[in-house]
Amino acid sequence: MRRAVYPGSFDPVTFGHLDVIERSLKIVDELIIGVLRNHTKNPLFSVEERVSMLKESTKQFSHVRVESFDGLLVDFAVQSEAAVIVRGLRAITDFEYELLMSQTNSVLNPSVDTVFLTTRLQYAYLSSSTVKEVALMGGDISKFVPEHVMRHVYDKYERKD
Ligand code: ADP
Repeated sequence: MRRAVYPGSFDPVTFGHLDVIERSLKIVDELIIGVLRNHTKNPLFSVEERVSMLKESTKQFSHVRVESFDGLLVDFAVQSEAAVIVRGLRAITDFEYELLMSQTNSVLNPSVDTVFLTTRLQYAYLSSSTVKEVALMGGDISKFVPEHVMRHVYDKYERKD
C-alpha cells in the first residue's frame, strides 16, 4: 500500500489542487490531504471550512482522505503512515521554497521523501490568492474553482462588505 500526504493551506481549494490530487492518485494507492491549521498567513476560511470544501470536491475519489493538521509536516506524514509527501510546482518561483522545505523535511526525517508534480500549463497561473483577489474585485472565478467553492468564496466577501 503506497500512501502519500498532500499538504497545503487550500484557502480555498482550486482546480490546480484538484489536478494534482487526480494525478497523484495514478501514482499512489491512497492520498491523505492535510489541511494546515496554524498557518502564518491569515486565512479567509477556517480550517473546518477548508476541509469541508475539499471533502466535497474530492467525494468522487474513493482513495482520498481529508484531514487537518498542525505542527511538523513530517510528523503528520509519520502519523498517517505515509512515506511520501506530494507537492505541486507551478513556476520557478515555487522552486526555491519547495526545495528548502523538502531538504529540511528530509533532515528531520530521512524516511519521508517529497515528490513534486509539475502543474499542467492550463493551471500554471492559478493560486488560491488569485482566486481571492479576483473574487474580491467582483470577478468571475468559475474557471478557477468548483461551483460550490465559488459560492462559499462569494458569500465570504459579501458578508465582509
Ligand atoms: P501552501 O500555502 O502550503 O503553498 P497551497 O494551498 O497554496 O499551500 O498549495 C498546496 C500545494 O499545491 C503546493 O504544493 C502548491 O505548490 C500546489 N499548488 C497550488 N496551486 C497549484 C496549481 N495551480 N497547480 C499545481 N500545484 C498547485
